[in-house]
Amino acid sequence: MTNPLLADWAGEFALPPFAEMSDDDFAPAFEAALSKARVTISAVAENPEAPSFANTIEALETADALLNKVLGLFYNVAGADSTDKREELQREFSPRLAAYGSEITNNTALFARIEQLWQARDTLNLTDEQARVLMLTRRGFVRAGAQLRGAKAEELTAIKERLAVLSTQFTQNLLADERGWFMELSGDDLEGLPDFVITSAKSAAEEKGIDGYVITTSRSLIVPFLQFSPRRALREKAFTAWAARGANGNDHDNRAIAAEVLNLRQRRAELLGYDSFAAYKLETEMAGSPENVRTLLMQVWEPARAAALADQDKLTDMMREDGINGDLQPWDWRYYAEKRRRTEHDLDEAELKPYLQLDRMIEAAFDCATRLFGLEFRALDTPLYHPDARAWEVTRNGRHLAVFIGDYFARGSKRSGAWCSAMRSQQKLAGDIRPIVVNICNFAKPPKGQPALLSYDDARTLFHEFGHALHQMLSDVTYESISGTSVARDFVELPSQLYEHWLEVPEVLTRYATHAETGEPMPDALRNRLLAAQTYDMGFQTVEYVASALVDLAFHEGAAPADPMTAQQKVLETLGMPSAITMRHATPHFAHVFAGDGYSSGYYSYMWSEVMDADAFEAFEETGDPFNPDMAARLEKFVLSAGGSEEAETLYTAFRGRMPGPEALLRGRGFL
Ligand SMILES: [Zn+2]
Repeated sequence: MTNPLLADWAGEFALPPFAEMSDDDFAPAFEAALSKARVTISAVAENPEAPSFANTIEALETADALLNKVLGLFYNVAGADSTDKREELQREFSPRLAAYGSEITNNTALFARIEQLWQARDTLNLTDEQARVLMLTRRGFVRAGAQLRGAKAEELTAIKERLAVLSTQFTQNLLADERGWFMELSGDDLEGLPDFVITSAKSAAEEKGIDGYVITTSRSLIVPFLQFSPRRALREKAFTAWAARGANGNDHDNRAIAAEVLNLRQRRAELLGYDSFAAYKLETEMAGSPENVRTLLMQVWEPARAAALADQDKLTDMMREDGINGDLQPWDWRYYAEKRRRTEHDLDEAELKPYLQLDRMIEAAFDCATRLFGLEFRALDTPLYHPDARAWEVTRNGRHLAVFIGDYFARGSKRSGAWCSAMRSQQKLAGDIRPIVVNICNFAKPPKGQPALLSYDDARTLFHEFGHALHQMLSDVTYESISGTSVARDFVELPSQLYEHWLEVPEVLTRYATHAETGEPMPDALRNRLLAAQTYDMGFQTVEYVASALVDLAFHEGAAPADPMTAQQKVLETLGMPSAITMRHATPHFAHVFAGDGYSSGYYSYMWSEVMDADAFEAFEETGDPFNPDMAARLEKFVLSAGGSEEAETLYTAFRGRMPGPEALLRGRGFL
């Protein structure tokens, strides 16, 4: 029988063969696809003809087509629905892929061809997009070590393979700790919890085969528990377990892995001629240098810390009124902040929740895309990799644009967090290839027959990930290497964070925030209170984020710390971290930084992008219409369809006419 992963995916929209495939197909498909890629790469390198853009750069663009097809599918299902078998395959594939990457980088004949084209670039009559792809390809080779020879090249290859092993281990350790911890609640322990927390706790227990109620480390469950439970000892127990993920001294401890990763990254940067990994990494980002990152972060840190310290005093007073002495602790903050929000803004998460139904929020995200970009969505009845995942066809004026898959509920087999990925990216080199885009979230799953209800934070996450999805679905470039979200890391959060703003448009909430039982729209008064409370607790939110970003930056600026936990502590002390706030992601579970290279010395990217998204949404507001069609067309033309076809700054300036300062961001966070 032929392997369904290697066959032509001839079904509707060339979707992966979800119904036919099994975990046993991945390894042979991987072997076959990797061999095929190797053969193709050597044919490109050994081509007797003189190098041309077509026989070298374009040939490289398509060399990994089959491998990307197999791995695009594999990594999606492994991240969203892991099994022991899939985890084993990940451990097996990751160092081998790193080795394959190094083989390409170290292929001197191949690099010589690229270099020859690069030197002759002005005589090749390239289109702008081709010139960009040539520049990026060569730059990628150089930054991967193509100019190194001998022992240094070998050392770099070994480092990359080891890093691949460590990042996989880090991810799997974290998942194991998250899966392994839960706290059963008995009758009295449910005190003070609103219905939605109780139903989520029941549903989480069901998933674990337990009759009763369970709190897990899933953000959508543990955060509301910390907000509402008046039982301080339980809050402490839950928070402590959540904060200890990856640092429990068991087989899944990530602390030694973090130390080794930082060491290897620093060595990698040195081999490539950089002072630090941050200098290496930031060279190709919009920020350009660690200094520019620090300047922005500190501009935000100071007012955020001041706001948080003032809040800490108020919350401590509230705790004293409850007869509790001593200092406000990290497991107290959310509880008293929620209480204070109810008093000061008359806003109660439990009152809000019935209005934020998952299905209505999906419709809202779709409808905004219809109004802005003319997209239409049609639910597909097709088998996927998990029964909770759902698919839609996305069209415009009857033309197929993409398949969108939404996989929204938390489960033990899913990595924590929320993300967007493409099982297939848009490109035109191999025909009119349209993307398959996936949004993964970790919302609490309702018991059977009940509607899924979101927190406002969850709803924002849904819009955020959908903004990334639009970047993929509206992509309109020829070359896959610059398609969709293949842009600078500190630019990639612009479409996603910008899209969150449309959730805040009053008419969107009025139309889509309807009560799960009565169907009534959210009352204007509640909506206004919700929107007025948008900057509530922003000191806390900003402090926990910026502290994480500054620790990430410090970790990668020069000699690696012998003990990252001590180094983390020192950074926080120097910053004057408020005592009742912890980092949003502490080192042992900082997956952004250690589960791969993506956001290493790049966690600041959200804030860098926020400078632009705050300013970009003001561009819509200035027209008086948040759905202004001209502005939407500009956004699509210069940002959403353009991928990495030009420098991020060029794209943004083309959209807005100038680059922004941090004022809109500070205003948006209530710090001005
Ligand atoms: Zn994002």
